[in-house]
Amino acid sequence: MEILWSVIILAVLGLIFGFGLAVAAKVFHVDIDTRIEDIAKMLPNANCGACGFPGCAGFAEAIVEGKAESLSQCKPGAKSGKPEEIRKYLDEHPNPDGSINPIKK
Ligand code: SF4
Repeated sequence: MEILWSVIILAVLGLIFGFGLAVAAKVFHVDIDTRIEDIAKMLPNANCGACGFPGCAGFAEAIVEGKAESLSQCKPGAKSGKPEEIRKYLDEHPNPDGSINPIKK
């Protein structure tokens, strides 16, 4: 009989914690712009900081959020044609409001 109560108590606790996690997942949900990850993959990933941002992921985020001035800020990427590649990607993937990211090469 003690084992049965242990199983019941653990099952109830599991349900309570599971419900709590489900509510927390809904409340703290953050929408992630997948373009940031896509652009970060296009960059050289040297994480040298020459662009003035904290690594390639930081530069990719700045591009998508319109905080970067030029795609050529990435010196290693500029030599291998990355600005043109990213510009083409941005033209094909507009902002959520439908506008095109105006950042220049
Ligand atoms: S300059 Fe280019 S390679 Fe260096 S951190 Fe910035 S985006 Fe990455």
